[in-house]
Amino acid sequence: MRERVREILAREQAGGEVEVRGWLRTARHAKGRSFLEVSDGSCFAGLQAVVEPEIANFEAVRGLRNGCAVVVAGELVASPGGEQRFELQATRVEIVGEVGDDYALQKKRHSFEFLREIAHLRPRTNTIGAVLRVRNAASRAIHDFFQERGFLYLHSPVITASDAEGAGELFRVTTLDPGDPPRDASGAVDHGEDFFGRQAFLTVSGQLEAEIAALALTDVYTFGPTFRAENSHTSRHLAEFWMVEPEMAFCELDGDVEVAEAFLKAVIGAVLEACPDDMAFFEKRIAPGVIETLEHVVETPFERLTYSEAVEILQRSGRDFEFPVEWGVDLQSEHERYLAEEHIGRPVVVTDYPAAIKAFYMYLNDDERTVRAMDVLVPKVGEIIGGSQREHRLDVLTRRIQAAGLDLAEYWWYLDLRRHGSVPHAGFGLGFERLVQFVTGVANIREAIPFPRVPGYADF
Ligand code: ATP
Ligand code: MN
Repeated sequence: MRERVREILAREQAGGEVEVRGWLRTARHAKGRSFLEVSDGSCFAGLQAVVEPEIANFEAVRGLRNGCAVVVAGELVASPGGEQRFELQATRVEIVGEVGDDYALQKKRHSFEFLREIAHLRPRTNTIGAVLRVRNAASRAIHDFFQERGFLYLHSPVITASDAEGAGELFRVTTLDPGDPPRDASGAVDHGEDFFGRQAFLTVSGQLEAEIAALALTDVYTFGPTFRAENSHTSRHLAEFWMVEPEMAFCELDGDVEVAEAFLKAVIGAVLEACPDDMAFFEKRIAPGVIETLEHVVETPFERLTYSEAVEILQRSGRDFEFPVEWGVDLQSEHERYLAEEHIGRPVVVTDYPAAIKAFYMYLNDDERTVRAMDVLVPKVGEIIGGSQREHRLDVLTRRIQAAGLDLAEYWWYLDLRRHGSVPHAGFGLGFERLVQFVTGVANIREAIPFPRVPGYADF
């Protein structure tokens, strides 16, 4: 009989013997009895156990502190306090793991910066525990959403030889000795001698591989880790993050936008339903108003703007932006947030960006100036989804690869797909941690992932 606190607290009524295993969130030793709050991480709340002197090892129990690991058995009784429905009248307390005097997680409030330095302990905190449960619920909702719509889960590779966008923010994968690499006749490092016989990298996106699969299996999605060696010390960028990338054949930009909107609504709705206690905590302690914002996202249609319309709105806003706006510039976080947060007050889908600021694979509109790209912008976070209809016309794609200064030979297979059975197709990428950040309201994306990797930091 191994029951979790979550199941115990969800019981219809008190009564019966139960046993819980976990860590003490708090230990309060009052006169003549002790109150132990046992958390096993299965839900936000712990189960309070009341320990009285009749317990054989009562003296040892008196020495327990928060962080200790215990097994507590006893009778489930109605809680007189009212904060919880049930508590445990302990009949046995087994002390499994004590804590030392130098236990870093004290009962006081710690800063998120400090907690990152003790990432081995921070899942025991209210905030990170709740974040991890939200991540879990959101992951499940993502699979549910796509599976219910007949999408196939594709495992895209982590190691790749292609730089998906020519963006150059790649981590190299090599087994060459950095101190003494083999060199070719010209003195350059000879990657022919390297593990893969060529240069290889950690993937920045599974999109190109998802396109391969979509052009055979119609609707697919990836959900896996991606890596970007961008040296950005922002609250929205990680060097390693998880990306969700659906790709759909026989689909154009409008269909792409529809799926993106339905997807965000479904996942956010599912988290609100699966994690009410965690969300109540975020609402109270981390981001007041977050629940209403999310409910609003689920209930109201997203706004749609073209990039050109967005630029006009920003120019007319009278705002003194750090980066001035004119047609042709990429939208910065401050612009994205103005649009989603202040101008519209809910998620906005911006479409048809200038070709010059977007990747070569995006479908070129007839005006030859814009591409069928779409970004979904949300309050606080800014860009949460980036997607596009892909260029499926061989002649246009060839021209665009050349214009981007990329090597046609590197993309031989990508072009080959446009020669054989090419169809309009579209997809998008959602940064999973950006979604978690939006849902939980944590200010920094480093709190949205259990083990953040950022410039200068990859501990644990
Ligand atoms: P940004 O302009 O915010 O850097 P991007 O244009 O580089 O984003 P894409 O290449 O379109 O982003 O990637 C798809 C999605 O992946 C983004 O919409 C975002 O949610 C997420 N994302 C991109 N870079 C990061 C990162 N470094 N850390 C976390 N999530 C990211
Ligand atoms: Mn980026």
